[in-house]
Amino acid sequence: MAVVHVVGCGIIGAAVAEFLSSTGCTVRVYDQRKGAGLGATGASLGVIMPISSSKLAGDLITLRLASLRYYDVLPAVTTAMGVLTLLDRPADAKIARCLEQRAAQGFILELWERDDLHARCPSIRADYALHSPADRAVDGVKLVYHWVASAAARGAEFHWETTVTAPMIGNWAKRDWVVLTNGLGLNDFLPVPRVQPVGGQAIRLRCPDLAIATVIHWATADPIMPDLNLVPRGEGMFDLGATVEFLPYTLPQPLHPQRLLNAAASICPPLGQGEIVATWWGDRPRPIQTRSPIIGFLEPRILVATGHYRNGILMAPITAAIVRDLITEGHSSHPWQFLCPDFLTAHG
Ligand SMILES: Cc1cc2nc3c(=O)[nH]c(=O)nc-3n(C[C@H](O)[C@H](O)[C@H](O)COP(=O)(O)OP(=O)(O)OC[C@H]3O[C@@H](n4cnc5c(N)ncnc54)[C@H](O)[C@@H]3O)c2cc1C
Repeated sequence: MAVVHVVGCGIIGAAVAEFLSSTGCTVRVYDQRKGAGLGATGASLGVIMPISSSKLAGDLITLRLASLRYYDVLPAVTTAMGVLTLLDRPADAKIARCLEQRAAQGFILELWERDDLHARCPSIRADYALHSPADRAVDGVKLVYHWVASAAARGAEFHWETTVTAPMIGNWAKRDWVVLTNGLGLNDFLPVPRVQPVGGQAIRLRCPDLAIATVIHWATADPIMPDLNLVPRGEGMFDLGATVEFLPYTLPQPLHPQRLLNAAASICPPLGQGEIVATWWGDRPRPIQTRSPIIGFLEPRILVATGHYRNGILMAPITAAIVRDLITEGHSSHPWQFLCPDFLTAHG
């Protein structure tokens, strides 16, 4: 069986290790940090909500919906089931189309109108919302640990504090496979940068008397937080975020926690009394001038699977399934070629 070197052990590298190790491939994973999930993955809020997405159909939504299905067999990493997307207007033709489309795809998406919404979520200040019972929030780092342990139990090797260089991958690719899942580190292997960091800061709030069990998602007028998620984490804790900040930016910003709290209080006043117990931040890997994520061949035996921007947790299982198929079968039945930008080759 093939020997596969996986560069980077965030959510994508861990998923690739998990999927490939179950095929009998020899898997070796390398990360420059001290352990797994310490890059963008460690900053994620873990919200996966393809059903609630305004994108109705097409290859990308097909992949996202397929990826969500994998999470049904990973209940231990789910921290909150259901996403409630607040609307600023009653249902219109676009929303009606969305409900129909999701039903045709086999997913439930419900419109909650004023009385229903106020009865179910009395602390939320909105008159209309879309409820998706199968969208959810997961603990991305817990999932990384789970996949690392599971792949290691099947013989996958993990090498921490090991920075992979271009000569190393060139050497490995003479005989073996290489999968680049190294996020922003991809630029180190390319003549020009193809991924850029997009910053995000988030906070954890203690609000012990607030009874909200689903993720709340809403749009704001603040340019650095076009949309926000409130994620219940149990025991009166809620995560809230994240800002979306393009270069040049500096994080953390000391005023961001209060700015996030104010935005949350506007849709749920009791959150205004919440205690901010932590803030954190991270850099999302976003492709430059091409769609997200990037999947394709840099060389015949060097695959790139990175640049998942705001959807790395959601897209990790389907990305790993595609990588596994390309290495073990030579092709994948999932649509992926549309994610292969011009600077890569499609092959397979
Ligand atoms: C604040 C915030 C909130 C987010 N919320 C969500 C969310 O709710 N839902 C969602 O789906 N996504 C979310 N995301 C996005 C998600 O976190 C990312 O898309 C995802 O984590 C990317 O995973 P990755 O494995 O590609 O990258 P990373 O987690 O960054 O992993 C890449 C790894 O490669 C290693 N590496 C780099 N170069 C080398 C090298 N040369 N040699 C060895 N190792 C190397 C790094 O050390 C790193 O560990 C969020 C991101 C942020 C910052």
